[in-house]
Amino acid sequence: MKILVLGSGAREHAIILALVAEGAGHEIFAAPGNAGIAANATLVADLDQNDPAAVTRYANEEHIDLVVIGPEAPLVAGVADALRERGIPVFGPGKAAAQMEGSKAFAKRVMDAAGVPTGRAARAQTRDEVAAAIDEFGAPYVVKADGLAAGKGVIVTSDRDAALSHADTYLPSGPVLVEEFLAGPEVSLFFLSDGDTVRALSPAQDFKRALDGDEGPNTGGMGAYSPLPWLADRFGSEDAFVAQVTAEVAEPVIRQLDAEGTPFIGLLYAGLILTDAGVKVIEFNARFGDPETQVVLPRLRTPLSRLLLASASGTLESEPALEFASDAAVTVVLASEGYPEKPVTGRPLTGTEAAASVDGVHLAHAATAHSDGELIATGGRVLNVVAVGSDLADARDRAYAALEQISLEGAHYRRDIALRAAG
Ligand code: AMP
Repeated sequence: MKILVLGSGAREHAIILALVAEGAGHEIFAAPGNAGIAANATLVADLDQNDPAAVTRYANEEHIDLVVIGPEAPLVAGVADALRERGIPVFGPGKAAAQMEGSKAFAKRVMDAAGVPTGRAARAQTRDEVAAAIDEFGAPYVVKADGLAAGKGVIVTSDRDAALSHADTYLPSGPVLVEEFLAGPEVSLFFLSDGDTVRALSPAQDFKRALDGDEGPNTGGMGAYSPLPWLADRFGSEDAFVAQVTAEVAEPVIRQLDAEGTPFIGLLYAGLILTDAGVKVIEFNARFGDPETQVVLPRLRTPLSRLLLASASGTLESEPALEFASDAAVTVVLASEGYPEKPVTGRPLTGTEAAASVDGVHLAHAATAHSDGELIATGGRVLNVVAVGSDLADARDRAYAALEQISLEGAHYRRDIALRAAG
C-alpha cells in the first residue's frame, strides 16, 4: 500500500515503525515528519498537514491508498472530511466527531447522552462562576481549558488561588471547565472504530507530570508502559477490564455519535481513572495518544495497516481478534532543558545510534532535525527511548541503559517510568 502519515511527532514515528515492521513493503510518506522518520519514510516537507485541499490533492495525485492522521490539528481543520468526500480512505474522524477531543464540553454532553460514567463538571464563563464551582466541588481543584492545549490546559491543585489564576489564563478566550477531582490510577485505552464496530488495543499508562514522583507541571507526557500487570488484581484479568470499558464506554459513545450523524472513524482514546466507585472517563482524544502509542504498537502482532484500512473502510467487524505479544514495553521521553515552560531548542543531540543499538531498544523521534550534518533538538519533547523486554523490569533496564548513551545539554527525563508497576 501507499500510505501517507500526517504529523511530525514520536507518535507518528511509532505508527510508521509499526507499518514498516509488518514487512509488507508499504511505501510510506510522512508530512512533515522529522529527522528520525526520514529513515523510515519519504518526507513530504512542503505539504501543509492542516490544509484539507492540499492534502487531498497530494493524496489524489500520488494515488495514496490510505491516509493516517496523527495529531489533532488536521482533524479539527477538516482534513479527514475533505479526503472522505473524495473517496480516499482515511483513518481519523471528521471535524464534527473530533470535537470529542477539541471541546471538553462537547465530550461531556455526548457522555451524558450515552450514559458513560464520568465525573461531575461545570462550565464557567467568569471568575465568579469558577470560584463558585471550585467551592462546590472542593479541593483538590480541577480546572481545564475548553479547547486544544496539548495536555497543558489542565491544572489539578489544592491551592485555590492557583486554580483561579489558571482559569484567568484561559477565560479571555472562552469558558473553562471545573471538574470534580477523581482519585485513582489512570489508564489509557485506545479503540479503533469504523463508525460502528470498535476494537480495543492493549491498555497503557502514561506519566503526565514533568518530574519524578508525579511532581511538577502537567506535560504532553514523559513516559509510558504497557501492559498493566496490576489490572489483573482489580479486574481478574486485563481482558476483563478491556471488555468492561468497551461495553461501558467505547460502544455507547460510538453509538451515540453515529446516532447524531457524526460517526467516529479513527482512534478513540479513552483517558480513564479507576476510582473506588468504578471506572470513570476523564477525557477523550480523537487520535493515538502520545507517548502511549510508542508502547502499545510494538506489542501489536496484527498488521496495523490492515486494521487502519478496515477502520477507514467500515469493515472492522470482519477482522479477526487483535493479537498482542505478552512481552512488555516501556518508553521514556527525553525533554529539552526548560520543558514544559520554556524549552531551549537548537542544541546538538549525540549518542542516538549507541542508544538504538541496545538490545530491545529503538528510538521514536519527536522534535529532531538535521542541521549542518548534526542532529539537533528542535522542541520540548525531543525523542522517546522505547524498550521491549520480557517484563516491565527488563524493559525499564534496557530503556535506562540506552538513555545513558544520549547527550543533550540540559536535557531531563523521569527516572521512575513504570517503576512501581515493575515491582
Ligand atoms: P486531561 O487533559 O483532561 O487529560 O487532563 C490531564 C491530566 O490531569 C489527566 O491525565 C489527569 O492526571 C489530570 N486530571 C484531569 N481531570 C482530572 C479529574 N477530574 N480528576 C483528577 N485528575 C484529573
